[in-house]
Amino acid sequence: ESAVSLRDVRRRYDRGEPVDALAGVSLDLPRGSYTAVMGPSGSGKSTLMNVVGLLDTPTDGAVTIGGTDASSLSESERARVRGAEVGFVFQTFNLMPRLTALDNVALPMVFAGVPRPERRERARRLLERVGLGDRLDHLPNELSGGQRQRVAIARALANDPAILLADEPTGNLDSATSDAVLALFDELHTEGNTVLLVTHERAVAEHAERIVHVLDGRVERVETLRR
Ligand code: ADP
Ligand code: ADP
Repeated sequence: ESAVSLRDVRRRYDRGEPVDALAGVSLDLPRGSYTAVMGPSGSGKSTLMNVVGLLDTPTDGAVTIGGTDASSLSESERARVRGAEVGFVFQTFNLMPRLTALDNVALPMVFAGVPRPERRERARRLLERVGLGDRLDHLPNELSGGQRQRVAIARALANDPAILLADEPTGNLDSATSDAVLALFDELHTEGNTVLLVTHERAVAEHAERIVHVLDGRVERVETLRR
């Protein structure tokens, strides 16, 4: 079964000259798969991530995530499915600056209605999982870049999402720290998580099982990597 599937997805921007940021994309992300997306600037990568993450709605076509057809959901239902099924990891970490690592990781569980003792315990375990068991009470600005990204990854896992969406997750990290974060994604994939990662860097993309090359809003080629 697919964690995510896109069928003939088109996303048109109608400001002045219409642009199809996605011009008919079909894509299946099997449960437990690890996929990278590459393509030049303007090829539709961000739009693809936004559509998969239910931040944006296609003009045409269908998006299914975690078994739910998202096409016909109301705005509030979409937000609920997004919170339950999508874990976002951004280049800029996007942590809440006044919340501790523990509270940042617990926050998506607040939205999901998880009782406080349970979410604190789960947040603690997730932070231990990413190697930050000794940093629970630190604020983001008391952590290194790599540590902040690991907090963000723990947060992304908080609601046990169907998919982990990572947009240039190593873009702000030095190469040693990037390697550690990529090793963590490798482990999460090995443990059964489904990962979709956008990157400009071939070496980063090669951590995945396959690379989806996008060009002009279309899937130009799907490259399967030898493991
Ligand atoms: P990438 O992430 O690969 O750089 P994007 O998905 O950001 O590509 O953009 C794909 C195309 O859609 C580009 O031509 C871009 O100019 C256009 N586009 C993206 N977002 C908008 C928007 N909000 N309004 C109008 N056009 C947009
Ligand atoms: P900001 O406004 O700074 O982006 P938010 O309070 O909107 O911060 O979100 C903080 C974190 O909580 C984000 O990482 C987001 O992924 C998560 N989040 C926001 N809304 C929801 C939701 N409805 N369900 C689950 N998680 C959510």
